[in-house]
Amino acid sequence: MDTVAVHAGIGEYEFGAVIPPIFQTSTFKFNCADQGARLFKGEEDGYIYTRMRNPTIEAMEKSIAALEGGAFALGCASGMAAIHTLFAVLLDSGSHVVCSESVYGPTTTLLNSYLAKFGVEATFVDTTKAENVLNAMKINTKLVFIETPGNPTLVMSDIAAIADIAHHAGAKLAVDNTFMSPVLQQPFKYGADYSVHSLTKFLNGHADVVGGVIVLKDAAEYPLFRKTLNHFGGVIDPFNSFLVHRGIKTLAIRMQKHCENAIEIANFLESHPLIEWVNFPGLKSHPQYEIGLKQMNGFGGMIAMELKGGVEAGKTLLDNLKLWQLAVSLGGVESLIQHPASMTHASMNADVRRQANITDGLVRVSVGIENAKDLIDDLKQALELITN
Ligand SMILES: *Cc1c(COP(=O)(O)O)cnc(C)c1O
Repeated sequence: MDTVAVHAGIGEYEFGAVIPPIFQTSTFKFNCADQGARLFKGEEDGYIYTRMRNPTIEAMEKSIAALEGGAFALGCASGMAAIHTLFAVLLDSGSHVVCSESVYGPTTTLLNSYLAKFGVEATFVDTTKAENVLNAMKINTKLVFIETPGNPTLVMSDIAAIADIAHHAGAKLAVDNTFMSPVLQQPFKYGADYSVHSLTKFLNGHADVVGGVIVLKDAAEYPLFRKTLNHFGGVIDPFNSFLVHRGIKTLAIRMQKHCENAIEIANFLESHPLIEWVNFPGLKSHPQYEIGLKQMNGFGGMIAMELKGGVEAGKTLLDNLKLWQLAVSLGGVESLIQHPASMTHASMNADVRRQANITDGLVRVSVGIENAKDLIDDLKQALELITN
């Protein structure tokens, strides 16, 4: 992984440049009218227009496909553009989707509020128990969509068991792998058909890009996905692709540090008298600890917790941290903390949210790559300000 992260997607460039140039161009000149026609017919390989193909975007896509062990990757304008494009390819009016109930808030909203309009039906289940997926399958189920670990609760689902269930019913399995990155989890190894990411998070890792990606296991599906992305238009641009590709070079080493810091912080939180509960895949107390061991190469940098004093105590913590920043998003080098019920998952119906165990007091942290002791000291001083 360390080697793939540094070298994948890198080719030979003019002047011996070791890094792919940024082809910041919307369009590409043809040699002659006949060549333009041949490119459009697909009789000749080459570039036409950046929404269709661009060499800087392709370099980034190749590196992600290699890291995931997939055939192709498609760079998208955001994680949501990636998820929407995946749905647009796979679902028709009358299709049914089974989705994890603990997923990124806008994924739920996309299915419930928008795709429902086009006749797509979705059932949300607790996918930590694979039998719940089996029970939710219908004759018209085309897709099972899971997020593991799930945002923001950090619950885990068994990819291999769910892949079997989906395939038995003639459906496909997509995994939102954003919380792990391909360094910590490779869904294709466990039977998934698609892996999607918000590039905004760990893959870019520097909180300065919004982007997404769809990774395909089966090369035969690539032309349809590329055509759909081109027509729906949610493509990433060359400069953001360059930044993501740059970020990926340090992905393996960053993930290692995120993991090291997060386990220390999770242990600190679990032993703190003001903390009601902590959910972190690397704690033996995690209800799906065994599932994590089976399919993950590390436990990641995301932690969910609740303070004994609930929402009020949580606010005191959020408002008094000095090093941790109060912001949504995750996966960057800097540590962030946020409150899902009023922030990332506020767009979800409150009953649906509570049903998914996203409690009103849940606090989510994204552990960065700073010094762990500095992060713990900051948590300590803010927790001391809570008076019960
Ligand atoms: C952030 C996120 C998304 C959406 O990605 P954007 O780049 O913000 O559109 C999807 N899934 C998960 C798990 C996320 O954390």
